[in-house]
Amino acid sequence: MPIKDIYALACAGLKKLALNQACRDGFNKDSLFFKLFEQAAQHYIVSSDRHELSSKLHVLSDKGYRLGVEYVGEENHDPCIVQAFVDEYLVSIQLFAKAGLIPQLGFDLSAVGLLASQETAYLNATTIVSAAAEYNIPVMISMEHSSAVDKILEVYAELAPAHLNVGITVQAHLHRTINDLPGIIGYGRKIRLVKGVYNESQEIALPRGSELDERYLKLLGDVLAANVPVSCATQDSSLIKRIFDQSYHLDIQELEMLHGVQPEVLRKAKEAGLACRIAAVYGNSWYLHFLHRLAESPDNVLEALADFYDPSRITFGAGY
Ligand SMILES: Cc1cc2nc3c(=O)[nH]c(=O)nc-3n(C[C@H](O)[C@H](O)[C@H](O)COP(=O)(O)OP(=O)(O)OC[C@H]3O[C@@H](n4cnc5c(N)ncnc54)[C@H](O)[C@@H]3O)c2cc1C
Repeated sequence: MPIKDIYALACAGLKKLALNQACRDGFNKDSLFFKLFEQAAQHYIVSSDRHELSSKLHVLSDKGYRLGVEYVGEENHDPCIVQAFVDEYLVSIQLFAKAGLIPQLGFDLSAVGLLASQETAYLNATTIVSAAAEYNIPVMISMEHSSAVDKILEVYAELAPAHLNVGITVQAHLHRTINDLPGIIGYGRKIRLVKGVYNESQEIALPRGSELDERYLKLLGDVLAANVPVSCATQDSSLIKRIFDQSYHLDIQELEMLHGVQPEVLRKAKEAGLACRIAAVYGNSWYLHFLHRLAESPDNVLEALADFYDPSRITFGAGY
């Protein structure tokens, strides 16, 4: 089997492991996986709690980056955990306001109650978005597995008309996005365009490759033609080069990458004059986030093992 195909299967395997319910149920601060990989996860996770977060965010904003903040957590079933998740955002909004920071907040609707009901997710999302609006803080809703997209778009259809500071993530790999996009554009709110992180069948989504890159750029062109603000969230340097070559960089709001991923690529884009945002993730429930980052590049698995062996390799802000 060619090594390229082995990489693709290994990537799918890591993503399958990321969604494995037994593994996720077993993952907590006392779990073996947490203890073994906590140091290595710091490559991506900015801090375990909000107290350390502000000072680190200042380091990145002082270097000229826009900020994004996401508290790790997804698919919360337990109403108490959902409430604690919402409260975390409400407290952190106050903290950012006091610290003079205006990060774009992001979260999954499944973390704020979508598994209980759309109404719960809507009410909790409204609480966060309204609290953020008081300080001009924007909020970006994440997009999840294809099985949740209908529900997410229905909740967003209620949220978007009432809140100027809310936006939504759109996955280029899903075939349905071609049909969903005009409606999403119609709200006039910010769109964050990603390729899509979840394993999906070929009936539902395009795999990684040139056809997906073409579709990404076509969707990007459609959003720009409608004069709607759009952020390109991609860590793919060849796609970023095409965004520059085709002059999309002149019209997009920003290039956005997750903290710890290819800082040099983001730095070069910033030096070339493009506004760049670092999506900083914090919290302890980093199991899924960490495995997804490892899945994105085979080198990251080796990096994680090297970080595990020698945690001093990780210096916050290095490379940016
Ligand atoms: C800010 C942000 C928010 C996101 N929100 C969502 C969301 O709400 N829903 C969702 O489904 N997905 C989300 N994603 C993930 C996204 O869908 C992709 O899975 C992810 O960005 C990887 O795809 P890519 O375009 O970066 O490049 P890929 O096509 O995955 O990779 C192309 C090449 O880019 C390089 N690369 C990519 N990632 C890495 C990495 N981690 N480390 C080293 N090299 C790498 C590698 O060389 C790789 O071969 C988000 C991503 C970002 C940056």
